[in-house]
Amino acid sequence: MIKPLVKSVWQTLAGTVGWYKVKRGDKKLIVLMYHRVLPTTDPRYQFEEPGMVVSDTTFAMHMQVLSEENINVMTVSQWSALPAEQRPQLTVAITFDDGWLDNYEYAFPVLKRYNFASTLYVVSDFMDMPAPFWPNKVLRLLLTPGLQQTEAWQPLLALTGTLPPLPLTRDQGAAVIDHLKQHGDDTIYAALAPLSDVLASHTQTEMINQQQLHDALTNYGVELGCHTRRHYRLVEGLSETLLQEEIVQSKQLLEAANNQRVASFCFPNGDFSPAAHKLVSEHYDCAVTTKRGINTAANLQTSKLLRIGVHNDISNTPMKFRAKLSGAR
Ligand SMILES: [Zn+2]
Repeated sequence: MIKPLVKSVWQTLAGTVGWYKVKRGDKKLIVLMYHRVLPTTDPRYQFEEPGMVVSDTTFAMHMQVLSEENINVMTVSQWSALPAEQRPQLTVAITFDDGWLDNYEYAFPVLKRYNFASTLYVVSDFMDMPAPFWPNKVLRLLLTPGLQQTEAWQPLLALTGTLPPLPLTRDQGAAVIDHLKQHGDDTIYAALAPLSDVLASHTQTEMINQQQLHDALTNYGVELGCHTRRHYRLVEGLSETLLQEEIVQSKQLLEAANNQRVASFCFPNGDFSPAAHKLVSEHYDCAVTTKRGINTAANLQTSKLLRIGVHNDISNTPMKFRAKLSGAR
């Protein structure tokens, strides 16, 4: 029982002394990274990995903390466009990855109440779809009551190993996903292919559509960012054609559909090869990674901005959230 106590003391220190230090000293940009925002009672919350979601009440609490602390909130591209001397002492930028419909349903109305701008990083080919990522599909299969491990499951079971009877718990499902991550995305999608009929009857649209995006951009202070066309991780070895599609075409598609310039890019999974980084630098004003940290004058690279990922378990009290804002693990 020592460990939780140490953790709690550490969080309190980070949330008080650490946060006090962050608010003073050198100029800083804290970029918050959110994925999904859902009520815990929503089935979509239960079918999501714990590390990918905050509850709607946790998110509202985060915004209340930022408001009470009188933090300057602006988008990464607004901040990047300012001359260094005009940047506030402390800025928080709010970012959402992937383009989830729940951001529109549960986060943007809260942001509007506080008049906080944010950036939504959309995967252009994934709009208006059921959850397109394999972890969501796997969790649907493992957690839905009543499913049987039929012949169609064999390719997946070859990757996961023998599974206990379904449905699994959310934590068991998350452990299976962790285990699957040793395999390449293409291998996992191929193993899921025979299960597409099963999945089709247990899914709903979970990504934002064009009309909702238009409303978000027009009425909710949301800035459009690009998160590739199909969420390829931009690692070494991708062809020049694929890099062009994921980095340049995605931008053109989003700009044409929304009649506005897209200035900000988000690297899927935080991965980038030198070639991918170069292309992003040529076409965007700024880009965000998944590398954890606070941006300061000393480490600032606007094409590789550090972020702080937040999900429910690590940020569901104001003290834990302040500890996260301070850059604590
Ligand atoms: Zn993503």
